[in-house]
Amino acid sequence: MELALHREDFVMGYETAHDVSEKTTRTSSDPEKKVNGNSKKNVLDTWILKTRQKLDFKYKLAMSRLRIKAWYEHYNGDVHVSFSGGKDSTVLLHMVREMYPEVPGVFVDTGLEYPEIRSFVKQFDNITFLKPKMPFHKVVEKYGWPVVSKRIAQYVREITTRTGKNEATRKLRLTGIGPDGRYRPWGRIPPKWHKLLDAPFKVSEKCCDVMKKAPFRQYEKETGGVPFVGMMAAESRNRQLLYLRNGCNAFDLKRPMSTPMAFWLNQDVFEYLTQHELPIAEVYGQIRQDLSCRYYTTGVRSTGCMFCAFGVHLEHEPNRFQLMKRTHPKIWKYVIDKLGMREVLDFIEVPYE
Ligand code: SF4
Repeated sequence: MELALHREDFVMGYETAHDVSEKTTRTSSDPEKKVNGNSKKNVLDTWILKTRQKLDFKYKLAMSRLRIKAWYEHYNGDVHVSFSGGKDSTVLLHMVREMYPEVPGVFVDTGLEYPEIRSFVKQFDNITFLKPKMPFHKVVEKYGWPVVSKRIAQYVREITTRTGKNEATRKLRLTGIGPDGRYRPWGRIPPKWHKLLDAPFKVSEKCCDVMKKAPFRQYEKETGGVPFVGMMAAESRNRQLLYLRNGCNAFDLKRPMSTPMAFWLNQDVFEYLTQHELPIAEVYGQIRQDLSCRYYTTGVRSTGCMFCAFGVHLEHEPNRFQLMKRTHPKIWKYVIDKLGMREVLDFIEVPYE
């Protein structure tokens, strides 16, 4: 009976601001937030996320629609969809506009998107284009290159820009030993990446802040609207932590945000696209199914920024830069030779030819 109640609660839960504030009294066993000095309690446990991720797609869809409704009603319709032109936010925009057709979409035109993505976004009505204040080449010059991962790039920046100023942080980042003497593997730079501390170029996680977050913040300040974002917990550990901490509808964040697909998996996105026969940007190629009925695309796997080096070391060949050489040779030449990505990729030993 207890399980049934939990299931009902978490499967079809409305997740209003009231629900979330009640859940914030739960205790969490996540040690990472203590490393980062964040004492906010998680609103969800990992088992709830795993259970939600295993649900049949029709339940996930019903849950997402409930969360969209709750968000929209809570803010009296003063909402927008953060639209990147990728397949996840294409699904999100469709889901939201099926319920509330007037909701605007907002696209940050960083200059780093595939040209096909830009053209795809232009096909939609009611999309606002935002521009970052600084171009990418200035960002890498001023702050550093986005390499390996956001977390590692942040740790490298902390050490290389604050040497000697914070000995406790330095020790944690280099050895994983926290101020209390405990070993915290997630707080350190893995030995493999210590070489970044001596790289002949700057490393930093700041690029997203400047190129994407700042324009959105400015837009939200000017309009007073709050966003729907097509983020999924399965995409990275940071996103999972964020979801466990706030749930789908993060009403009490400094920057409130709804992520109604947070418990979806990549295959669910394909399921939605196929069921609704939605077009996706040309750069993805065709959607196909393999022998085990798993969806995949014949073109690029991800349509994020073309020049981003986050995660490229984990990709099988052909990686994003090798694919780019075939599909967009002029842009490849620009990023590799003119911007200086050749030096960065050589240093982290990632092929690009
Ligand atoms: S995804 Fe990468 S390249 Fe794009 S804004 Fe973020 S850090 Fe920069």
